[in-house]
Amino acid sequence: MTLPAHHIEPLITSEAISSRITLLANEITKILPRDIVVIALLRGSFVFTADLIRAFYATGVRPQVDFMTLESYGSGISSSGRVTLIRDITENVEGRDVLIVDDILESGRTLSYARDLIEKRGARSIHIAVMLEKPGKRKVDIIADFVGFTIEDAFVVGMGLDYANSYRELPYIGVVAFD
Ligand code: 5GP
Ligand code: MG
Repeated sequence: MTLPAHHIEPLITSEAISSRITLLANEITKILPRDIVVIALLRGSFVFTADLIRAFYATGVRPQVDFMTLESYGSGISSSGRVTLIRDITENVEGRDVLIVDDILESGRTLSYARDLIEKRGARSIHIAVMLEKPGKRKVDIIADFVGFTIEDAFVVGMGLDYANSYRELPYIGVVAFD
C-alpha cells in the first residue's frame, strides 16, 4: 500500500515515557489490589502493557495478563466510529479486579466497548490505564483512571501505535506530519 508522503516529528522521548510509566505503576499500586487481571487492548497497547507490567514487578502488583483485539481505525488515521471485536480474552473475569490498558483514549468508543463487555461478565472492579489521551475528542462518556500523557490533537505513532501498521517499533512517541 502506498501512503501519502510524510515524516515523523518526535513528541515524547523514550526517557520521559519510561519515567512516567514508573510513576503510573506506583499510582496504580496504591489504588488496586496486588492480584489483578490486566486486559491489554491490541494491537496498539502491547508495548505500553509490557513496560507497565514490568514496572509492576518492582511495585508488587502480580497481574494475570490477557489480550483483547478491537478495531475501529482500519488502516487510516481517523476512526470509523464502529468498534469490532476481533479476538476475545480467555480469562474468566467474574469477581476479579480488572485493569484495562490501552494505548490512547480519543473518542472513548474502544474503551467503552471493552469496559461494557468486562462489566457484563461480572468483574468486581474495572479501572482504565492509557498511555496517552487526547482531550476534547470524547464522543462517549468515559474517563481513564490512569493517564500517562495528555497530548494535543495530532495523529501519533510509536510505542505500539501505528500508521497503517508501521512505526509500532519506535521507542518514542512521534507525530505523523504530511509533507
Ligand atoms: P477511540 O476509540 O478512543 O476513538 O480511539 C482509540 C483507538 O484509536 C486507540 O486504541 C488507537 O488504536 C486509535 N487511535 C486514536 N488516536 C490515535 C493516534 O493518534 N494514533 C494512532 N496510531 N492510533 C490512534
Ligand atoms: Mg488501539
